[in-house]
Amino acid sequence: MNLSHIEHLGIAVKSLEEAIPFWEQMLGLKCYATEEVKEQKVKTAFFKIGQTKIELLESTDPEGPIGKFIEKKGEGIHHLAIAATGLEENLAELAGKGVQLIDKVPRKGAEGLDIAFLHPKSTHGILLELCEDKNA
Ligand code: ZN
Repeated sequence: MNLSHIEHLGIAVKSLEEAIPFWEQMLGLKCYATEEVKEQKVKTAFFKIGQTKIELLESTDPEGPIGKFIEKKGEGIHHLAIAATGLEENLAELAGKGVQLIDKVPRKGAEGLDIAFLHPKSTHGILLELCEDKNA
């Protein structure tokens, strides 16, 4: 495995418009980008603390993954993302070790990253994302 740091923490929110001011006005961070990821049925907003990002996720469809998450659990931490080098190799290694993968091959996430999710059943309860920035 070749993992380097916590890339971002994904937080499900009901409304970016309502959540962004907390991070900007209360915590003094700057939202440096917003982006819609259509395949994931979300709108995202990004903040940076050190080399770690905070990714706020607002659902654009109640049937999407974040819509369902909020319906079940309410707002809150949705996933943890770890930066990986050689994402395909890391996924193959995990699959070989019997880890249950949601994405067997990487797909495109926000900010042009290649991403893949591991199933919470295999990670003791957290939705874990591995991501790789091939443009870095
Ligand atoms: Zn993410």
